Amino acid sequence: MEIPSASATTNAGHVTRQLIDTYLITHPHLDHISGFIINTAGLPGARLKRLAGLPSTISAFKQHIFNNVIWPNLSDENNGAGLVTYMRLVEGGSPALGEGAGKGYLEISDGIGVKLFSVSHGHCMEKHPHRGSSASSRYGSFDASAVTASPRGVPGSTAASGPPSLFRNSVASQDKESICVYDSSAYFIRDSATGREVLMFGDVEPDSISLSPRNQGIWQEAAPRIANGNLAAIFIECSYDNSQTDDCLFGHLTPRYVIDEMKSLAAAVEMARQAPSKLESTKKRKREAEKAHNGADNAGTAQGDDRAVSPKSTRPAKKGPSSTSGAEHGGIDTPHIATPTAEMSLDFEVNITPVIQAPQFANALRGLKVVIIHVKEKLVDGDAPRDTILAQLQEAEEEAQLGCEFVISSAGQSFLL
Ligand SMILES: [Zn+2]
Ligand SMILES: [Zn+2]
Repeated sequence: MEIPSASATTNAGHVTRQLIDTYLITHPHLDHISGFIINTAGLPGARLKRLAGLPSTISAFKQHIFNNVIWPNLSDENNGAGLVTYMRLVEGGSPALGEGAGKGYLEISDGIGVKLFSVSHGHCMEKHPHRGSSASSRYGSFDASAVTASPRGVPGSTAASGPPSLFRNSVASQDKESICVYDSSAYFIRDSATGREVLMFGDVEPDSISLSPRNQGIWQEAAPRIANGNLAAIFIECSYDNSQTDDCLFGHLTPRYVIDEMKSLAAAVEMARQAPSKLESTKKRKREAEKAHNGADNAGTAQGDDRAVSPKSTRPAKKGPSSTSGAEHGGIDTPHIATPTAEMSLDFEVNITPVIQAPQFANALRGLKVVIIHVKEKLVDGDAPRDTILAQLQEAEEEAQLGCEFVISSAGQSFLL
């Protein structure tokens, strides 16, 4: 890369204006989008910038950011200024694109393919009926279209599930919770020339305490790529050190949860190494089940463009205890495995067992870099959170013998992968 100036800021401007084409957004929280928003008009290049993400993320930009209230409409939709164009990515990859090992990857820039998956990032903590009456909801000031597009971007009628008293029913209350799980996402980013990949998370919560655990599905995807040596690094958040209590996680990870997730990944990798065909057939069953499921979802959710959500995100606008999805989840007591679709529960049965039983992981993740991002600064004297987090990760790694290398990211850092 040629840099035009001795000044770092001039070079930063050059990179932003001329070199960066596409922004991959994991979720529309302000800390992940503010720099992009503020610099878009100030640093225009010769081409318009592409903003890529889940359809629910794009919808949030349209409704809540580039709406001529919070910020001018800089997009090329709805008579905007035309500096930004939206790319609504298909969750789980674009099956019709690519071929061979690159199948399903969307070429987002020259020689770079991406595939994204949604993950969970906390849930709404408001004590209101999440569906049905909006009387006690703080969303009360929104109009109906805003409510239907709220937290998970799930379209559908808010009146469909009947009066709030229905929520005393256990199935309905699970529905109430799952509907308010906040979507984030993770990107597999692949270099087309070499087949090398990185997996980039935004914010994410642990499966073990999620109302809609979806990390296991990502580990299933990642495992064969680690087994065959193509996945070089995982960028994953660790917002707090282990002193943060579960009720103050706000949909984030701490070192003990990062380690838990890496153990799940290690178990999946072991399985991929021992029985790749078994893993493939599990994935195939999962894909088929998802296809059937998505077909059903999409049928009921055809809406305008703004409400378009990815196949995964459209899940369960469950209509109450009589719906088939409700029946599917009835009788399961554990909320965090009751929420996802049936095929996800299958993955749990297959994969969680070795996590619990194996005392250590024989360096299943050897060669993998785990780069920690999103460390929240405490802005007080004493140990820097990044040092505490690294120490806690390394201590746990020593016991678990995962074999991966933990690195804490810092501004300006480069990685050769
Ligand atoms: Zn966030
Ligand atoms: Zn964040």
